[in-house]
Amino acid sequence: MNRNWHGTLIRHLLILVSISLLAGLVTGYYGASLAVALALYLAWTLKQLLRLHEWLRQHRPDEPPPDGYGLWGDVFDSIYHLQRRDQRVRGRLQAVIDRVQESTAALKDAVVMLDADGNLEWWNRAAETLLGLKTPQDGGQPVANLVRHPRFKEYFEQGNYHEPLEIPSPTNDRLRIQLHITRYGNNEHLMLVRDVTRIHQLEQMRKDFVANVSHELRTPLTVIAGYLETLLDNVEEVNPRWVRALQQMQQQGSRMQTLLNDLLLLAKLEATDYPSDSQPVAVADLLRSIKGDALALSGPRNQQISLDAEASYGLKGSESELRSAFSNLIFNAVKYTPADGQIRVRWWADGQGAHLSVQDSGIGIDAKHLPRLTERFYRVDSSRASNTGGTGLGLAIVKHVLLRHRGRLEISSVPGHGSTFTCHFAPAQVAARPALELEE
Ligand code: ADP
Repeated sequence: MNRNWHGTLIRHLLILVSISLLAGLVTGYYGASLAVALALYLAWTLKQLLRLHEWLRQHRPDEPPPDGYGLWGDVFDSIYHLQRRDQRVRGRLQAVIDRVQESTAALKDAVVMLDADGNLEWWNRAAETLLGLKTPQDGGQPVANLVRHPRFKEYFEQGNYHEPLEIPSPTNDRLRIQLHITRYGNNEHLMLVRDVTRIHQLEQMRKDFVANVSHELRTPLTVIAGYLETLLDNVEEVNPRWVRALQQMQQQGSRMQTLLNDLLLLAKLEATDYPSDSQPVAVADLLRSIKGDALALSGPRNQQISLDAEASYGLKGSESELRSAFSNLIFNAVKYTPADGQIRVRWWADGQGAHLSVQDSGIGIDAKHLPRLTERFYRVDSSRASNTGGTGLGLAIVKHVLLRHRGRLEISSVPGHGSTFTCHFAPAQVAARPALELEE
């Protein structure tokens, strides 16, 4: 194998030349003898090359190479060994791939690999049951053509995969699936899909329970509030000792009514993904009317409320939902800003979409509370909230309304100096002037 073929070759050539010279001495034709010898050598070399070519062309695994002589035999053997080694490495790799495929096939969760353009490359067996992918027909198809839920298409195209997406399974409406997408390698995507039907059902039960209880409490509370109002309307007939108690009962009763209304609104917002009535909403007009209510709420506290709104942009969505969200933000600013404070409301649009910011010079919020502020009943300071008559549901409502309008809430605050609540809406949600005028 490791013979010194350099020296051997030179020796062979020297022998060949010597023999041809000898033949030349005998025949007297030196040139012709040399030419004949070299031609014979060339013919032999070509024959070996042809045999090699033939073997490589018709090569079947494990077929040994043809017998070769000298250097050619060595070349045949080397190629054969390289091939065998390559086969062994490939065999080992295949075994690893088989094991990975077997284990992912046994997974209950679906695993789907997509190329940079979102076309299907590979998927496991669970993907067939959860997503309805067909092997092998669907290979190379764009995933958005096979998972046709509008929210999936939007989620996939938008490319922000921080939060997972929950949708009904394309194969069975009663199954609820959660999709998690991760980018890897050359912008390829790995999509993990879990069956979350059970969690979804529990969540649904919780929502239904809250909605039902709120609904059932509404009627008795309306009756009690009605009687209290009648009693207080005829206050001169009431024993003076009870007047204060009745007034407090009425106050707390109306708090409970606000709470129930907020709970019912939240239940309604959670029931569907997007608002059913999606009309262009003239946000500037809406804000003007909310500003009027905010001034009434502010009353004698002499707060400065300024409104700076671009009338040429509106939003597609539900006016009543947007009214709830925006008034919650603006009323909070009024509630948590002391007398003579400043409140600035701005509405504008740019390349990133449309934005509403509500800035106040109020008490502010400590940074540690900010991440939890939109949770239901989360309060920075419970005594503060009961003073203002808040339900603790306002910002949860804002968050839900924004989610349904492709928006997100950003909160920044400096304790003692004030807070800014900014709603950012995606460009797809912005309605420009013509649509608004059509509406009018
Ligand atoms: P609430 O009905 O209690 O106002 P929200 O969900 O609207 O409930 O707000 C949650 C908490 O966030 C409030 O209890 C309050 O402590 C704080 N908060 C909301 N808006 C402001 C604001 N503009 N300035 C200071 N604190 C605020």
